[in-house]
Amino acid sequence: MRHYQISELVKEVLFTKEEIQLRIAELAKEIEADYKGKDVVFLSVLKGSIMIMTDLTRCISTPYIELEFVQLETYHGGLASTGEVEVVTELKSDITGKELIIVEDILDSGITLEKLCEILAKKNPKSIEILAFLRKPMNVKVDIVPKYIGFDVDDKFLVGYGLDVDQKFRNLEDVVVFNPDALKQYE
Ligand code: 5GP
Ligand code: MG
Repeated sequence: MRHYQISELVKEVLFTKEEIQLRIAELAKEIEADYKGKDVVFLSVLKGSIMIMTDLTRCISTPYIELEFVQLETYHGGLASTGEVEVVTELKSDITGKELIIVEDILDSGITLEKLCEILAKKNPKSIEILAFLRKPMNVKVDIVPKYIGFDVDDKFLVGYGLDVDQKFRNLEDVVVFNPDALKQYE
């Protein structure tokens, strides 16, 4: 991928790192209140949720939580989703009877999370809830309602804070709107 100047690619900064951290602290407080005294498993959906997972769980004051990871793939490079969800790395640990919170970067059509919930339900956790750091409400096609949402956003292609374009840009600290003109290389 050509190394553009960041300013060529970023249309707008949607959420700064400060805004993100403030919202995460609020979400952590809500979760702590909801799950007081319970054993919670945070399940990060890689790769996009890596940043939210590490920031969120460090805001949780009890150490009696578990961190787990699965890797799913819906986007196969570029911008278009195939709609097919591939489980790249599955969850091997036993979650029977445990309270599960799925940590996802962005809820777009919801197809990824619907498939994941189906797979996880077979493992008999006590409960499954979803934290979606971002949601594009106008795009959601399935009956998935996250208990925790960081921000609702418009239907624009976002990158940064875990979100990628062709595997790059995940380490930007802000969430930014990507300039689609810069993507002509993928057409
Ligand atoms: P869904 O199955 O909900 O349609 O797709 C969810 C996945 O699509 C997310 O986990 C994310 O990987 C990808 N995705 C959806 N919208 C965006 C976006 O605006 N930017 C990026 N980088 N990825 C997105
Ligand atoms: Mg994702």
